Amino acid sequence: MRKATGLIAVLLTTTLVFSQNKPANKRSVTDTSLPPAAQTALRNVNPENIRQHVRFLSHDLLEGRGTGTRGGDIAAEYIATQFALYGLKPMGDNGSYMQKVPLVGVTTVPESSSFVLQPAKGEPMKLAYKDEYVAYNQNLTEKVDIDAPIVFVGYGIEAPEYKWNDYKDVDVRGKVLLMLVNEPPSNDDNFFKGKALTYYGRWTYKYEEAARKGAIGVILIHKTDMASYGWEVVRNSNSGEKSFLRADHPQLDAASWIQLDVARALAKTSGMDLDQMMKSAQSRGFRPVEMNAKLKATLVSKIRPMQSNNVIAMLPGSDPKLSSEAVIFTAHYDHLGIRPDQPGDNIYNGAADNATGCGILLEMARAIASAPQHPKRSMIFASVTAEEQGLLGSEYLGKHPPIPAGKIVLNLNYDDLPPIGVPEEIEVVGAERTTFYPTVQATAKAFGVAIKPDSRPEAGHYYRSDHFSMARVGVPAFSINEGMKFEGHPAAWGVQQAEDYTAHRYHQPSDEYKPEMIFTGDAKMAQLGVALGWKAANAAAIPTWRSGDEFEAARKASLGQ
Ligand SMILES: [Zn+2]
Repeated sequence: MRKATGLIAVLLTTTLVFSQNKPANKRSVTDTSLPPAAQTALRNVNPENIRQHVRFLSHDLLEGRGTGTRGGDIAAEYIATQFALYGLKPMGDNGSYMQKVPLVGVTTVPESSSFVLQPAKGEPMKLAYKDEYVAYNQNLTEKVDIDAPIVFVGYGIEAPEYKWNDYKDVDVRGKVLLMLVNEPPSNDDNFFKGKALTYYGRWTYKYEEAARKGAIGVILIHKTDMASYGWEVVRNSNSGEKSFLRADHPQLDAASWIQLDVARALAKTSGMDLDQMMKSAQSRGFRPVEMNAKLKATLVSKIRPMQSNNVIAMLPGSDPKLSSEAVIFTAHYDHLGIRPDQPGDNIYNGAADNATGCGILLEMARAIASAPQHPKRSMIFASVTAEEQGLLGSEYLGKHPPIPAGKIVLNLNYDDLPPIGVPEEIEVVGAERTTFYPTVQATAKAFGVAIKPDSRPEAGHYYRSDHFSMARVGVPAFSINEGMKFEGHPAAWGVQQAEDYTAHRYHQPSDEYKPEMIFTGDAKMAQLGVALGWKAANAAAIPTWRSGDEFEAARKASLGQ
């Protein structure tokens, strides 16, 4: 699920010799603003340890670490074992390192399902599965019949901070809501963050909001330029088995997408003009529109309960007055597993995505734990599951944190850091939204790395990695990743590596460990995390969201303010 801007190794003999001749710790940086024990922890970070974690976790024997599979469980056991060897305290269920995450796999059975748009006047429109619609039942019922009126609710957003409400004067209980993806377009940074996507633009928000308001279904209209991905992406990620957290509240009977042309045709049959309606949805004065049509659908689903674990450990803080608070580091260990129906190599090893993040997480834990003194606040290390299924492990962690969310001062996440060399540039998207940013800037400077701005804020990458699950419960959170510029290479090289990775390895069986990989860069990213985590753990004032940020309210709630 992570954005595809990562990079991976080219097999250069010269760099191989280079990395072998280089003593492991030679490249470690110092940050003189850190206490001596933290500087020792930085020097403790060894790239070869990260290599060995990646080598093991991405081995064929781990079968791609699929969620709820044996390979995934072996990965979790391996990580728990390392935590135990470092002397960390278990923070999972019943004194173990494992936090059980209850999941359910749902597969729509297209042969037994139907999806019909029925205008009050005119012919029923029976849609073709995958070509014209995709749909899921989120309530984990094997068969559900839907017969409900359709209401067009524009973008399906209620955002008081932007004085925006697409649900004006309408009772949507028991109804099906037709809506647009994304959010009202704007160049004004104070209105839905201008060009950048806020969480209101993500389809996950739209489903959640509709369910909160009592709607039984949502039909999202897919329009490529608005969604920033094509219909193939919608079709591929919404057919086959989809996993959900086992929820304790009602969700949608039909969470669905249709093609733009289908929505146009439906509006036309009801004597309406969809393009006109989409235009009026862009203004504050928009009001919901009854479509004079019903959704008549039967969804038959295969339900497969499964279980997986988040692996959680803690290094208690050294200051009794502050040790009830903690910095939390996260990295998902799951990947895509095996696709048995696929010929040839069908093991999705996930070396870069995200054995690298796990290797970094483990090495940070070891380096900090073995320092002569520990940070004042506690450090929690959580390797989460089911990220590739939609950030589900971290969502569960956010909803069931090992200590209250208001006591977690910062989350640093690692996801997909291809081991190709030492970055001269980092990506920390979202850090600028927090009061911790000046510390990030100063630390980057001490490390000799530039901070790369988000090149495509409109794509909403911030909402597609595990740190977001922590942000949702108010914790200031961001991921640390390599930028595009690398030591010893021209600027274009990194971009080329990223494109090559996206085209040939990202989410493919070829994302495999190679002995030629260079882990000094991943080690540097681990050192950066140690430095940032230590600073947050020792800081007088804990980080918060900048005033007006979309997560500010969640933080205040978690702090009881
Ligand atoms: Zn990932």
